[in-house]
Amino acid sequence: MRIPPNMAMWKAVGNGILEGISRVADLDASKLTITLSKTLKPIPKDETLLFGNIMSDHMVVAEFDPEIGWSSPEIKPLGPLSLDPTSSCLQYGTSVFEGMKAYIGPDGEPRLFRPDMNMARLARSAERMALPPFSTDQVLALIKQLIIVDRRWIPLSSGYSLYVRPVVMGTRTGLSVVASDRATLCIMLSPAGPYFRSGAKPTVSVLAVSETIRAWPGGTGEHKVGLNYSPGFLPLRVVQKQGYDLVLWLWGDDMKVTEAGAMNVFVVVARDDGGLDLLTPPLDGTILPGVTRDSILALAKAHTAGETTLPGLETQDSQRVRLHAQERAFTMAEMVQWSTEGKILEAFGAGTAVVIASIGKIGWKGKDLDLPVHEGLGPIANAFRTRILDIQEGREVWKNWSLLVTKL
Ligand SMILES: *Cc1c(COP(=O)(O)O)cnc(C)c1O
Repeated sequence: MRIPPNMAMWKAVGNGILEGISRVADLDASKLTITLSKTLKPIPKDETLLFGNIMSDHMVVAEFDPEIGWSSPEIKPLGPLSLDPTSSCLQYGTSVFEGMKAYIGPDGEPRLFRPDMNMARLARSAERMALPPFSTDQVLALIKQLIIVDRRWIPLSSGYSLYVRPVVMGTRTGLSVVASDRATLCIMLSPAGPYFRSGAKPTVSVLAVSETIRAWPGGTGEHKVGLNYSPGFLPLRVVQKQGYDLVLWLWGDDMKVTEAGAMNVFVVVARDDGGLDLLTPPLDGTILPGVTRDSILALAKAHTAGETTLPGLETQDSQRVRLHAQERAFTMAEMVQWSTEGKILEAFGAGTAVVIASIGKIGWKGKDLDLPVHEGLGPIANAFRTRILDIQEGREVWKNWSLLVTKL
């Protein structure tokens, strides 16, 4: 994407020079001040946790001023922020966020899963909204510090974790329709259990809709910006009234499948040569580049190349199930054809919050596609879910995907 001129100016902030006129400060985690809460909240029992309804005791806050740059970041008791009612984020939705998780490993140490990918995406989202830039390694250092302060909030049971929610919001005041030259970074933590009520083996139903569009080429669908999500709430309510859990978002006259709710989509289709196609739509601007999506593709390729064997995907004569991972567009017409031919073996959604959720039912034009019924997750979805949780929770090491959260 071409960088708009105002961003070229902000880019210079990273070098400490703003158009040669003034020096403004980058975000600096070494200037962190910590004010601990006098009263700590009781930690809820793991079994009672859902997703995102309880926050830990503390938060990180830092503010960007166009004259000064980033303020010294603070960790302080979680509480309301004070915002002018004309703030850019309230008027024009200049708000971007990330979602990642911290886990306690068998060594008792907290770790994050591929946080570099979340940090790069946060920077891209902020740039797309013309928000002031920041060093992502400083954001990551602040996330680590917050996790260390609130580490008693990390649940210990498998499938449970501490969800990390950084948000950068535009705080320029006034009603001019222009980029926000002020911003607030806020980082929160929330202990998280299974995303869907269906529990540890999540299965969801989706209804494909063509009347409303989540994302289109040239839009903002490939960024984690707040304004992508609220337009989906009304369609969600409509599909839920019809008995489905989520919207299956489509794009284009040919009804290409894009995402399910806020999850990337995968389908497993039987090939004539006995192997399996693992299909997910390509990153064409309509798809959020998910960390879970990327991890599934990488693990599938490693499995098929013989670098690892995914759990349960070895047949008795020790032939491995051959997965042909492909980023390629597919349409509802193809989905209907594959399902009529009995070739769809599994469909699933993937994202940090849920990890992997099986798609048990796909509604389209008043009917449901024929999908095989699995008890919980199908074998392919289960293989990825098991391996990804093993890596996230530190039972397995894979490349440099796990980052230990140690003192700064
Ligand atoms: C966050 C998100 C995903 C999943 O991305 P992860 O990095 O795997 O959590 C998928 N789709 C949308 C629309 C999202 O916002």
